[in-house]
Amino acid sequence: MTENTVAAISTPKGEGAISVIRISGEDAIKIADKCFMPLGSKKLSDLSGYSAAYGKAVKGDGARIDEAVALVFRAPKSYTGEDVVEISVHGGAVSARECLKAVFEAGALPAGAGEFTKRAFLNGKIDLSEAESVMEIIGAKNEAALSLAECAREGKIGRDIEKITERLLYTAASLAAYSDFPDEDIEGLDEESFTSMLSECENKLVRLLSTFESGQAVLAGVPTAIVGKPNVGKSTLMNMLSREERSIVTEHAGTTRDIVETQVNVGTVTLILSDTAGIHDTDNEVEHIGVDRAVKKLKTSSLVLALFDMSRPLDAEDKKVIDLCKGKKCIAVLNKSDLPLKADVSAFRDFNTVTVSAKNSEGMDELSAKIEEICGAGSLTGSDTVLINERQYSCALRAQKAISEAKEALISGITLDAVTVLIDDAVNALSELSGKRASESVIDEVFKNFCIGK
Ligand code: GDP
Repeated sequence: MTENTVAAISTPKGEGAISVIRISGEDAIKIADKCFMPLGSKKLSDLSGYSAAYGKAVKGDGARIDEAVALVFRAPKSYTGEDVVEISVHGGAVSARECLKAVFEAGALPAGAGEFTKRAFLNGKIDLSEAESVMEIIGAKNEAALSLAECAREGKIGRDIEKITERLLYTAASLAAYSDFPDEDIEGLDEESFTSMLSECENKLVRLLSTFESGQAVLAGVPTAIVGKPNVGKSTLMNMLSREERSIVTEHAGTTRDIVETQVNVGTVTLILSDTAGIHDTDNEVEHIGVDRAVKKLKTSSLVLALFDMSRPLDAEDKKVIDLCKGKKCIAVLNKSDLPLKADVSAFRDFNTVTVSAKNSEGMDELSAKIEEICGAGSLTGSDTVLINERQYSCALRAQKAISEAKEALISGITLDAVTVLIDDAVNALSELSGKRASESVIDEVFKNFCIGK
């Protein structure tokens, strides 16, 4: 158990129906008793866990702050695993701040970023991947993201990692038995069976790693650039996808001179969308900067929507865009399908293509389906475990590489001790993923991005 009792406002800033002040730690209930006066005769310290009391939040001298409800949770049955009191007062900056001030004066210390969740982790209520999922739940950009984060919150990642770890430990133990008694013919213990046990673990990790990119498309969003020469309909498409007037649309070329960004949900995928300046040759200094930025955006984005006006023959500027898109994850969006076709479609034979009329909103379903297909989110099944951030991914990758090396070592006849060391490396990487053996700096890094009060 941690020693200090900490407190923070756990609801967002601003006006709202209620604000919640959360207090956690050994003295949480004692401290809350000094700041909460119940209407009935029972103090909070007289209540059992999972109880609520109605009354008022008060200052140290008994002066009323606001009408309040207090919830009492007793260790270990609380979010943090410690005694917790949550005092709800009316929403708005002053009432909650005054109540928190009273709680501090009564002896609580300010909670750090993510401290409640960190305590839940340190007290063994949740593993590190579950703690991380809390951040994803709070920041979920769409229903699919929420559903992935909820799976992680329920411990799905931790359970899958645990199973692989158990199998690895069993393999290491079997290897030890085999190397201690090499002449005894123990059934199921030979190099072939060790290799197959390791392959089984490796395959599970390979599957887990393969869903990461699709998961990130859902959870973090895909940085996407809309590019093309001037006047092909980039801003119209941007507005159509975001269902609002984010970019100015005129018949004059070069209206968008800098990058306009917005976030849109396309099916299960969230796009972090950038409308860029039209790519073309120009002597105008300002336009030139805009074009440079557009090219840079195209190169750094994970997905490119390259637009072409199909009602005109393709020219050198379109060809430049085609060349820039080579090797990128890209969809050629063939626009202005409401007008007679004048462009040569065969120029896009190496591209994924979708024909649309951005102006009339035609072809948008096909474009959405193509985006989902390309970003891979459609390939996620409900039963897939998805690693939710880079930290988890790099741990799983380290484990997979160590297993792969262990297999090679077995096959090439290296000493069994060396194989065991590699299996240990894999187990350590997985323990770091779940937080069982994560260093203090790793844990600090995880919680530093949390908000105060969570
Ligand atoms: P940008 O310079 O590439 O951003 O192009 P805009 O979105 O500003 O569009 C340039 C012009 O093309 C505007 O007059 C739009 O109304 C028009 N436009 C855009 N999409 C279409 C389309 O699908 N069909 C037709 N006929 N015109 C379009």
